[in-house]
Amino acid sequence: MQTSSRFASLLAIGLFPVLVHAQLRGTLATSDAAVDLEAGEKAPQLLRLLPASEPPWVNTIPEKLPTAIERNGKRIPLQWRLMRRLSSVRPGRVAFVYESRQPHLRLTWEWRARATFGPLEHRVIVENLSGSEYWLAPMDSLDLQLLVPAETRLVHFYVDKGGGEPTAVGTHEVSASEGYRWTGWSTTFSHPVPGRPREIIPYEAIFLPRKDGRGWYAGIEFSGRTRLTLRRAGERLSSTLGLDPEPGPVVTRLAPRGKFETPMVFLGSFSVGPDGAGNQLRPWVRAVLGSAHTWSNPDYPLTVNNSWGVGMDISEAVARKMIADAAALGFEMYHLDAGWFRGVGDWYPDPHKFPHGLVPMAEDAHEHGMKFGIWVDWAQAGLDSEPGGLNLRDPKVRDWLVADVAPNWKPQDFKGQTIDLGVPAAKAYAQGEVNRLVRDYHLDMLEHDGYLVAQGCMRGDHPHAAPDPRRTSVEHYEGEDIVTSSNSTDVSYHAVHAYYGIYEELRRLHPQLLLEICNDGGRMVDFGSAAHGDYFSITDTYTPLANRRAFYDASFVLPPAMLEAYEAKWPTPRSANFLYMLRSGMMGWLTVMQNTNEWTAEQHAAARKAIALYKARLRPLIREAELFHISRRPDGVHWDGMEYWDPARGQGVIFAFRGSALSEPQHRFVLSGLDAQTTYHLHFAGRTSPDTAISGQQLMTSGLQVVLREPLSSELIFLSEHRPKSLN
Ligand SMILES: [Zn+2]
Repeated sequence: MQTSSRFASLLAIGLFPVLVHAQLRGTLATSDAAVDLEAGEKAPQLLRLLPASEPPWVNTIPEKLPTAIERNGKRIPLQWRLMRRLSSVRPGRVAFVYESRQPHLRLTWEWRARATFGPLEHRVIVENLSGSEYWLAPMDSLDLQLLVPAETRLVHFYVDKGGGEPTAVGTHEVSASEGYRWTGWSTTFSHPVPGRPREIIPYEAIFLPRKDGRGWYAGIEFSGRTRLTLRRAGERLSSTLGLDPEPGPVVTRLAPRGKFETPMVFLGSFSVGPDGAGNQLRPWVRAVLGSAHTWSNPDYPLTVNNSWGVGMDISEAVARKMIADAAALGFEMYHLDAGWFRGVGDWYPDPHKFPHGLVPMAEDAHEHGMKFGIWVDWAQAGLDSEPGGLNLRDPKVRDWLVADVAPNWKPQDFKGQTIDLGVPAAKAYAQGEVNRLVRDYHLDMLEHDGYLVAQGCMRGDHPHAAPDPRRTSVEHYEGEDIVTSSNSTDVSYHAVHAYYGIYEELRRLHPQLLLEICNDGGRMVDFGSAAHGDYFSITDTYTPLANRRAFYDASFVLPPAMLEAYEAKWPTPRSANFLYMLRSGMMGWLTVMQNTNEWTAEQHAAARKAIALYKARLRPLIREAELFHISRRPDGVHWDGMEYWDPARGQGVIFAFRGSALSEPQHRFVLSGLDAQTTYHLHFAGRTSPDTAISGQQLMTSGLQVVLREPLSSELIFLSEHRPKSLN
């Protein structure tokens, strides 16, 4: 966390509105970034992003305020006027307010600094102060057009979501030269769209490929249909972030006295390349977006045993055995995965598998000193007709569906038909249902899976815009009809707000509750979910390699503690392979998706030791330390590794993984973030090398040599600063 006060003077300026040539101006700053803002008479403008560097990030265009609004299909031009008395420039918040007289609308252009460090946040709120309904074309959240000399070399950095399985590349570092054109998309669905690359975590960074690696980054705090663009032409570098305008025309309802908000974006300034950006952004996500309750628990991230190791064969007797063994191994939570319920939309315990319900399971876990959580897909309707089940033949429920289903329709094992949470009655049902599950089953954790947020909706009588039949396509994907239409972005806008509202209320009622974000694995990994849940399932492929790849990618932008790896059963003929499998999930949140009762006595002993080490030494670093990607992205063949370094405590660890190649018994990891003048003690946890002391200079130039005799094995190397006795 940076504490420099480089911008103290700017912050002081930011305390007062400054009148320059009758213009209202303000500066908003953290220790890492600042923005100069100006309120023009007709539109506001971000003038530049600081710190000033080469190139200076000067923005050349004012904000594009909506030029028109619709009523009954008629276009009404808008004239915006700056409202000086309503505008404010204060420490932590700058708001320039504009109004339109006819119709009476108020637009607030807001910038915030919610922490003393890290990025600044921005959004636009359009309020309808009139008594009539209007339709508005949503504006972008951020629209930059920066002056950049044509000869300046720039690198564009972005990362894919882990989705069902991590992509081959995952982490992209692309030269953004003349003519560069890029679009990245994020939705809650992330299914493969022909002609489109894998969805990204809605974030991008631009930096200079020099030693200091200076640049800027931006991201979107929203889970709906969003997109980012980057274009380079001549001396212009342009970028837009916001709701996806395709397929268009996208319009959203402005109800009488209602409002529209652009998804919040953050904009930051950094040095030292993508890891430099990450070491600033990750603590900011924790401090600003994360749950204070969750982070105040020193046991977060937890170590978890998940029931999917036995799949659908779960039952009370099996769960009790798993809980007892998991507790003996040192796991801290038992996670009951799919297979426990009566049916889709019917989230009550299967009476054959759990004749006494789930409370005895929760109590059993609690008596073993563990927490208890369950899997649920709470936005799905099915056909069960028992009391409590959400039956889509019920006319009330049918009105909430995103589309009618065929007369012979049947749900799949875990998927039914999605209800549109943007419908107030559907939201109220879901709110009641998640609260009932947590309260009645004594839950410490609720995992949601499946497509909670509708991708599209065919209804014309929901709060969102009606679909345009001429701009509608239906795709059949994994048993579900995926509707995409001109209203899809607006459908997601309403459903995501409802989803956030449901989880905000659930957290208010149950502050200690942990919320796992899963959507067929890592399809909902974004900064809006990060603000409403506690950890992410980062991919739906549970091998050591897939987990390390998904972790490598997502850990550039999100706190490692929030990144969950499910480690499933995997061939471990040798004990070194077993540790390799476990440690592949130990760089963040570890969930072991295996029936540990099947493990040998030797594996039990190894796992018990590894989990104890995780709690004692790895977890504090995963929570607090800086993170450095010290290898290429894992490929399972060559070596890969990750470095944690906590400068405050003078402690760190290197995760070293040897791949399958027989020809590579050793590897040198060049470390980062250390002090060249300091000597570091190195302790090899697996005794693969004797303990030693090496200078920071050497570790950061020639590197740290690790030797492992067996392919598919691993080592943890703990670093500590050698401090002179007088300072101890
Ligand atoms: Zn709908």
